[in-house]
Amino acid sequence: MYLYNSATHKKEPFVTHTPGHVEMYTCGPTVYHFAHIGNLRSYIMEDVLEKFLRYEGLDVNRVMNITDVGHLTGDSDEGEDKMLKGARREHKTVMEIAQFYTDAFFDDCRKLNIKTPDVVQPATGLIPEFITMVQGLLDKGYAYLAGGNVYFDTSKLARYHIFFDHDEEDLQVGVREGVEEDTNKRNKNDFVLWFTKSKFEDQALKWDSPWGVGYPGWHIECSAISLKYNGEYLDIHCGGVDNAFPHHTNEIAQSESYLGHPWCPHWFHVHHLNTTSGKMSKSSGEFLTVQVLMDRGYDPMAYRYFCLQGHYRKNLTFSWEALDNAQVAYNKLIARLAALRTEGKDVDEELLAERLGRFKKFIGDDLNTSMGLTCVYDMLKAKTSDATKLKAIAAMDEVLGLRLLSRAQAKREENARAAAAAKAAKTSGDGMTILGEGDEEIDELCRRRAEAKKARNFEEADSIRAQLRDRGIELTDVPGGVKWRRV
Ligand SMILES: [Zn+2]
Repeated sequence: MYLYNSATHKKEPFVTHTPGHVEMYTCGPTVYHFAHIGNLRSYIMEDVLEKFLRYEGLDVNRVMNITDVGHLTGDSDEGEDKMLKGARREHKTVMEIAQFYTDAFFDDCRKLNIKTPDVVQPATGLIPEFITMVQGLLDKGYAYLAGGNVYFDTSKLARYHIFFDHDEEDLQVGVREGVEEDTNKRNKNDFVLWFTKSKFEDQALKWDSPWGVGYPGWHIECSAISLKYNGEYLDIHCGGVDNAFPHHTNEIAQSESYLGHPWCPHWFHVHHLNTTSGKMSKSSGEFLTVQVLMDRGYDPMAYRYFCLQGHYRKNLTFSWEALDNAQVAYNKLIARLAALRTEGKDVDEELLAERLGRFKKFIGDDLNTSMGLTCVYDMLKAKTSDATKLKAIAAMDEVLGLRLLSRAQAKREENARAAAAAKAAKTSGDGMTILGEGDEEIDELCRRRAEAKKARNFEEADSIRAQLRDRGIELTDVPGGVKWRRV
């Protein structure tokens, strides 16, 4: 597989330290709020990458942290503590906030068919390991104590700004106006490894350490968590492009200084999701979550489909119109798949191998997911048996993760139910059409409501409609009768 590497700024073959095995690390969410769909775009694209590596037969160990302490609103140690901010906003404890938003994050992931990493480690669960690493950095002369905090000394490094080709806006973090300078720092880019002198008197989470009671900086957690679960040699590190600087730069600084050898050769960064008014963020503009999309009637799979239409290294612009188009395209795709016959067994193995080879070439070329989607459509159009089509598309969907076959099966069942209900309505003899799932009791209530309406007994008709609504049944009047569905 060829992947663009942010560390070398070029596309190169993806080679692992141990052949056949991949050690993969992903920066997880800071659990002080819901993830917005821009954050989730990164996790979707990383999920496609992981699924493809597994599809290629590689054995993947993927590790993710959950940041539940130490992340300030500024990525370079300034601003407020994000977790405290969340706790204050919702009048809950920090741990309640952490648990709630961790659950919400994985709930979103399930809806978007993002696999849970093999290891998920909350930062607060590994404090002794962070302390060991900070002590190691002090012992080796890469860190210093000042004003009660432990800082990493970036002047000790021969190279620091490894991701310097990123947009200016990504590099502005440390030099924003109005940010109070930390006068303890010897160099502008030095960063905190361990805080004891907190700006927040009510800092809820504190641990004892050789430098006093305090809490870890944000960057150290990823280095220490990866070291524990991925080992000393990481193959690929993933994250949103916002994390490239200073977070990933600082991870490299800590890990390589501590280990004394190169740490992670390959860096995978997913670019921003923009709205028409700019970059999506929690602090500005429209804050869109999976739930907001669902409340507006969209299928989370349509959002995944929308993301796959774009390349992960390009900014993607979200609009409701674009999501509408994705939803329509996804529904049509499912309908076409549902129309394929599932009984056949005559698979054209030669064509299958050729088409899957093509698909692998596209995805293996820096994750060209839009061409991967095209391969699915090409397969539907191919002059071959339905069995060949289904087998090929099932294989492609192992990587794309769009739940194509299970949704097509659900659609087939829905079609069958609708056909049976229409037939039942026709044969019921009362001349009334009832479209639904063929539930006797509900059909009967629909009939009674129609009779009440006919008799101009609107009170009775409305009461039946309300009764059905309470049971989660929605009615729509159609010519000659009524249609009901569960909502
Ligand atoms: Zn990280």
